[in-house]
Amino acid sequence: MLEQLESELARGRAAFEAATTLEELEAAQVSVLGRKSPFGQLQRGLGSLDEAQRRTVGARVNAVRAALTDTLEARRAAFRDAADSALLEADRIDLSLPGRRPRGGSLHPLTLVEREVIEVFVRLGFRVVQGPEIEDDWHNFQALNIPPDHPARTMKDTIYPAIPGRTDLVLRTETSAAQIRTMQSQPPPVHIVSPGRVYRRETSDATHLPVFHQVECLVVDEGITFAHLKGTLEIVAKALFGQSRRIRLGPAYFPFVEPGAEVGVSCFKCDGAGCRVCGNGWIELLGSGMVHPQVLENCGYDSERYTGFAFGMGVERVALLKYAIPDMRMLVENDARFLSQFEGVA
Ligand SMILES: [Zn+2]
Repeated sequence: MLEQLESELARGRAAFEAATTLEELEAAQVSVLGRKSPFGQLQRGLGSLDEAQRRTVGARVNAVRAALTDTLEARRAAFRDAADSALLEADRIDLSLPGRRPRGGSLHPLTLVEREVIEVFVRLGFRVVQGPEIEDDWHNFQALNIPPDHPARTMKDTIYPAIPGRTDLVLRTETSAAQIRTMQSQPPPVHIVSPGRVYRRETSDATHLPVFHQVECLVVDEGITFAHLKGTLEIVAKALFGQSRRIRLGPAYFPFVEPGAEVGVSCFKCDGAGCRVCGNGWIELLGSGMVHPQVLENCGYDSERYTGFAFGMGVERVALLKYAIPDMRMLVENDARFLSQFEGVA
């Protein structure tokens, strides 16, 4: 029996060492130490021995089982370590690889231009005000000297929201309504700029969109003259298009100003010589004028005491000029090839 025990010890160790996977090791355990294994039978055979023999052989049986179990556990631990190492190796991060940088995107050209325009006014001390996009007829038209039968309404036809109980609502055609609301809410002096989205009944083409953006400027105080308007326009034109720009004013009619003036800026491409961008050397940039006394009165201001000027520009138009964009519709088509060109602009 003792000889058999020694050979089972050798056979068992060899079987455990020979196992190449955890599954093979489990199978070896059954065949070496299992109830039906030769070792198991030897263990059961102890009962048929006399006491002296049982003591000698029993001690050896225990020693062999302990030795085999030790070998088995050592092998099992080795397999676990190997599995852990393989997992770690598979999960290993190569810290020497450069990271994948996500594309940061960019601001939309209209946002870039709107911010740039507003910044010019903020540097001059203007306050930024915003108003609702759904306006009532009085703030959008009547307060600005455009009564219900005025021909200017044809040019400024817009969208009329169907809201039960209200027949006087429009999607605003100018941000001027925000200026009216400001004048109604505070006494002079007023130095504000009102940016925002406006709506017109317009078929989109290379130079028109039915939804576009304006930035409008309003100054009201005692002693404001046309010279203040001209000086402010010049500062804004130079800030946006370069310090060597000149401006020119031509007469124009807008119901809410008197006198009104159309403002051209000398072409930043050809400096006034005439080119494809400008045609005759001048770029028509915006409309302006001295606030009509009736508009001041409509807002409760004393038009004998206060005067003011106002002008407004289209953000899309400035963007087209600044970035040489050939078609206004490109600004709203969301073509990534177009928009990605503004990465890193601001
Ligand atoms: Zn030009």
